[in-house]
Parts: sequence; structure tokens; C-alpha cells
Amino acid sequence: MAKKTTGLPAEARPIAKLLRQIGREFHARGWAFGTSGNYSAVRRFDPLRLLITASGLDKSELKETHFLEIDGQARVLAGEGRPSAEVFLHLAVVRTKKAGCVLHTHSVSNTLLSERYAGAGQLVISGYEMLKGLEGVATHEHRECIPVFANDQDIPALASKVESALLLLPAVHGFLLGGHGLYTWGENVAQARRHVEIFEFLFELLRRKEFNGA
Ligand SMILES: [Zn+2]
Repeated sequence: MAKKTTGLPAEARPIAKLLRQIGREFHARGWAFGTSGNYSAVRRFDPLRLLITASGLDKSELKETHFLEIDGQARVLAGEGRPSAEVFLHLAVVRTKKAGCVLHTHSVSNTLLSERYAGAGQLVISGYEMLKGLEGVATHEHRECIPVFANDQDIPALASKVESALLLLPAVHGFLLGGHGLYTWGENVAQARRHVEIFEFLFELLRRKEFNGA
């Protein structure tokens, strides 16, 4: 039987509200169909308290009860249900990037590009004004190197691979999983949301160029 847990702490509720809005928006924009994707945000860094969507939910209809609060070992401290297996990827990003929010999307464009560039191990984007929407980027000449990892259903093993790679890549703003989707992050929910929007714009652009010739 599942361990009995309590409802979310009061301080977690405003964060859950922001992530519920993200779910509605991302579903409407085609970045979170089915039950795909998951979202997390840090309520406290030390000791870590991370709010994360529970597994297998329609992101257009997230309720406060659909969030869990977990610790740095993915143990559920509050909320009902279980976190997605991908929780270990969220924790890897929070640890290595000191991210306050981690967002994961499955769009048609990011899936197509992640598949195409899985062999190369990275997708490099340069020359676009929209790159300046990524935190710390000041020119369109910036080269954004997005690592592409092979997808794996063994998420703890994948997360450990991702964590080691991110430690060596201080400048990246996100990564792709082959045939799967995008992970990006930010200091807070607003910055992470902006990064999803910038990346999805750039992926859509490249997808049209590379697949449709437009
Ligand atoms: Zn996923």
C-alpha cells in the first residue's frame, strides 16, 4: 500500500498555480499532447524540496492535487500519487544547473530534430535573433550547442549520464532526448517558460527548413 502523505505545504501552492498555467498553455500550443511532459519547480534548495507533476496526467487539466513535493532522493513528502520516472532527470538538472524550474516538452518539431541529431550527439543553432531570448545570450552570433542523448527507458541510468555531461557543459540551456523531447530550465518558472518558447520557436524554424524546405 502507498505511504500516506499529506497535502502540499501552503508555500507550494503559488508554484503549483504557475505550473498549472504552464500545462494549459503548453497543451494548447502543441507541446504537451496526451499525458506527455512534466514540470517541476524548487520550493527550497536546502534541504531540497521540489514540486513536480505526478505521473500520467493530462497537462491541460492539472489540479493542485496533481503535484507532489519530493526531496533530493525523489521521495514523496507531500501529495498523492507517484512522480514520473523522469523525476531523476529533473533532479539531475536542479543539482547541476541550480535550476529553480525544469520543464519538459514533447513537440513534433523537437521530436523530429532530436531523432535527426541523435547520431551527431548535438544540435548547434546559430545566427538567429531569437537566441537572445536564452538567458545570458547577447548576440545572434551565439552558438547554442544542444546536447542530444539517446533515449532510454532506464531513467536513473540516463539521468546519471545527463548529469555527468551537464557538469562539463556550463553554457547549455537545454538538452534533447532522441525521438523523445526537450528539457530546459531557468532560475524560476518564468525564465524556464521563456526558454521553452525560444527553443520551440527555433525547433519549428529548423524543422520547416530541414524537413519541408521552407
Ligand atoms: Zn518525456
